[in-house]
Amino acid sequence: MRFAELAAAYERLEATSKRLEMRALLTELIRPLRPPELTRVLYLSQGALRPEYEGVELGVATSLARRAVAKAAGVEERDVARRTQETGDLGTTAGELVGKLHRLGTEDPLTVAGVYHDLERIAAASGAGSQEEKVEILTRLLGRATPLEAKYLVRFVIGTLRVGVREMSLLDALTDAFADGSKEARVKIEAAFNLSSDLGLVADALVQGGLAGLEHIHLEVGRPIRPMLAEREPTLAAILERMGGSMALEYKYDGLRVQAHIAKDRSVRLFSRRLEEISGQFPDLRAALPAAVTALPAILEGECVPLDPDTDEIRPFQEVSRRRGRKHDLERLQEEVPVCLFVFDLLLDGGIPVYERDFAERRRLLEQRLRPSERVRLADQRVVHSVEEATDFFEVALAGGAEGVMAKSLAPGSSYRAGARGFWWIKYKRDYTAGLSDSVDGVVVGGFHGRGRRAGRYGAYLLAVYNPGRDRFESFCKVGSGFDDAQLAEMPTRLKGVESDTPPPGVDTGVTPDRWFLPKVVLEVRGAELTLSPVHRAAQGAIRPGAGLALRFPRFTGRVREDKAPTDATTSDELLEMYRSQVRQAAPSTEGSDETS
Ligand code: ATP
Repeated sequence: MRFAELAAAYERLEATSKRLEMRALLTELIRPLRPPELTRVLYLSQGALRPEYEGVELGVATSLARRAVAKAAGVEERDVARRTQETGDLGTTAGELVGKLHRLGTEDPLTVAGVYHDLERIAAASGAGSQEEKVEILTRLLGRATPLEAKYLVRFVIGTLRVGVREMSLLDALTDAFADGSKEARVKIEAAFNLSSDLGLVADALVQGGLAGLEHIHLEVGRPIRPMLAEREPTLAAILERMGGSMALEYKYDGLRVQAHIAKDRSVRLFSRRLEEISGQFPDLRAALPAAVTALPAILEGECVPLDPDTDEIRPFQEVSRRRGRKHDLERLQEEVPVCLFVFDLLLDGGIPVYERDFAERRRLLEQRLRPSERVRLADQRVVHSVEEATDFFEVALAGGAEGVMAKSLAPGSSYRAGARGFWWIKYKRDYTAGLSDSVDGVVVGGFHGRGRRAGRYGAYLLAVYNPGRDRFESFCKVGSGFDDAQLAEMPTRLKGVESDTPPPGVDTGVTPDRWFLPKVVLEVRGAELTLSPVHRAAQGAIRPGAGLALRFPRFTGRVREDKAPTDATTSDELLEMYRSQVRQAAPSTEGSDETS
């Protein structure tokens, strides 16, 4: 396949905001393809070379890409920079500059295979001289590119492919292109993806063996499974009722979710909630895990929390987050902030997948297999049959340093539902007892210039929830409070490279910020209540035609959810559910002046 065809498809995708049209375009794009080309196109369309969990990074900063554009176009770097200020996007600039020298139909056209190969070389370049090598490869690619190809090549390498294609849309397209397009087929394809976290692998199996081919995909050590997620209920009584009168309650530890893969040879790999490999940050857990489990290979899940080395008490979560991303100080931090993994699930037991078994059996197996140590322990659990027992355990959990409890169904069918949020697990937190039931994880999609003390930087941000059904990010608030000076100062660094002068594809809002951002950074916010809004678009129309949901008096909690991808943010449906349970609990408050916009 010519790379020009892929670039043309991206151009069409970018121009549409309609889900069905996007689905049709994607289907048309992938239907004629076969592995390995199909696999490559799937990864490329997600802005990656490999499935996310493999962590393959191109390592091309915007400045490097700018240098390559300048070289390929034969102009000064500062001209490229100036022009990019005008266009707002280096990809567009590349399209304009490189396009002056090239026309379609050169004798040496780029192919998807060739481009992919060169991008792999860019990713592989490391050590002394690697920066120059990356620039060199990119310059040569750009030298052969048409304007449109240059635009998408550059966007790809700097990580801002804006076509707005996410996993859900690609799963739709796979269903239409390689199965019968039915709901049942879609469910099977998504299940295979939830199990393997690898779209390429799923596509491969589908093309080789149809829907039956997906059965060859198994849970394997080294390939993370997408996490099972919990629903909310406003009271313990409501939870108990939903669970049918009895349930397992566990401490809800406030830390970092960790999926631990322990191979037969006792090597350990750790994955975060968004399935990024985080093995490097927890050498202490890696060392402790093989001895803590008796049947290998194994995959288990737990929450990693800091413990006070003297008192054994749970410490605030922020102390684990200090471990993230730091390489040099790790040894010191290991001593200062020792962590413990509280294991709450077992998915692979001595090489046998057990995630489809009922929860009570998984827990029993886990209790048999785990040899608790200082670093690895079993999550505290009690099976309860009444609201009194549940309340009692909830108090115990809070006193023990947990943020609440996690209720788990003991009913037949309580298997581990990879990638799904359902009422098999229900969370109940201390905060539910007051005000708005939960915090909301919102994706930053816009920024507003600050005034007064905040002049010269962004003073507030526009946040959106994710709507998987529409594959859209829908705005729900503008948040400016809760940031301390340091947090406010570091936000632009986090948002570097995803700024945009035009609304990014997939973002839905009636608010116009001073600057747009491609969905990337997830912030945790709290607010007073949810109201209806004429300008925000979260769950628009669900309560009243034209009205979206907005969070009043939003406040940043100080936690940047680095463990969440934009599509892991709170969903519109969750927000709607929070709105409804708030209305059920308190006197209805539907109107409200819209302080949030
Ligand atoms: P979610 O994961 O539901 O999207 P979140 O990451 O913001 O949301 P919460 O909603 O507060 O977190 O709760 C779910 C998380 O609770 C799990 O992802 C897991 O990290 C954590 N957790 C702590 N203790 C347990 C437990 N005993 N069982 C399951 N999860 C637990």
